[in-house]
Amino acid sequence: MSTKKIIAVCGATGAQGGGLAQAILNDKNGPFSLRAITRNPSGEKAQALAKEGAEVVAADFDDTESLKNAFKGAYGVFAVTNYWEHFDPQKETAQAGNIAKAAKETGVEHVIWSTLEDTRLKVPLDDNRMPTLMGNYKVPHLDSKGEANLLFANLNVPTTYLYTSFYWENFIYFGAGPQPNQEGVLALTFPMGDKKLSGMAVADIGKSAYAIFSKGKEYIGKSVGIAGEHLTGHEMADAMSKALNRKIIYQDVSADVYRSFDFPGAEDLGNMFQYYRDFNDDFVGFRNIEKTRALNPELQTLKQWLAANASRIPLGEQAE
Ligand code: NAP
Repeated sequence: MSTKKIIAVCGATGAQGGGLAQAILNDKNGPFSLRAITRNPSGEKAQALAKEGAEVVAADFDDTESLKNAFKGAYGVFAVTNYWEHFDPQKETAQAGNIAKAAKETGVEHVIWSTLEDTRLKVPLDDNRMPTLMGNYKVPHLDSKGEANLLFANLNVPTTYLYTSFYWENFIYFGAGPQPNQEGVLALTFPMGDKKLSGMAVADIGKSAYAIFSKGKEYIGKSVGIAGEHLTGHEMADAMSKALNRKIIYQDVSADVYRSFDFPGAEDLGNMFQYYRDFNDDFVGFRNIEKTRALNPELQTLKQWLAANASRIPLGEQAE
């Protein structure tokens, strides 16, 4: 029988959990084995993990019993929820609560909860600097995660609160890459002024989580902010220009203009960028790059990430 400790990885078929899944699988002689949690064990990604040696178990964050079954016998759980699948902050908080409850009831020894700030602690709902959204939130997809921190804490689940950063993969998959502006110049558009955005390669989230599990109890009860680099819009655009050998500029817009853009979640993201801009010292200061690199010596800079990924960034241009 294997003496390895099982890590049940929520979101193992996705970006964050996928990075941790790979880190576990890559460390063949390491102390952990992978249990990949998915709603769809017969799906392509789950099957690929199974082929690499993962145990694949079905569970749904909306169903606590299924999570209890999936966490049984596990030493650790990586918890991540996907706001962007439903755009419902209450549902996201409830899903995290289900994970916390299942971890408690199955005696999991270490949960890493991938969270973000509850911005309402700094921008209460009656603060008119940014609009209140959905009645009870300033930045729904952040607040819902930050609110869920308490659900782990209140149940005394041994938890590390892992505060992640903007993935640079958003330039590829999330429509955050450069688009031609009115003058036809490729522009990265954010309402960040000259403030820095904490960013990272998503795989480095999983590698950081792996390191935290490897440290035993050291990080239990702690909040850890991670990032690969803190960069202004101009610095990101310059790095992209060099990597793609194209002129790419940073185009600053007001948060109001960003919120008015015509894509789902624009208001939520407009408020997010405004929060990151207006509370920049807190946001950036909490995500210590040297400490992140100490956890994960393979931590990438944007330049390194671009060297491997720039050609995958869609440039929003019509084929000629
Ligand atoms: P992703 O790549 O879209 O994958 C989502 C994963 O969650 C899949 O593995 C999916 O598994 C699983 N999942 C979703 N709903 C589930 C459910 N009800 N039951 C069981 N599994 C479920 O997501 P990701 O990027 O890793 O993580 C998304 C989260 O990251 C969001 O909440 C977002 O706010 C946060 N985040 C994003 C950024 C960014 O810059 N984009 C930065 C920090 C944090 P199956 O489909 O296989 O069941």
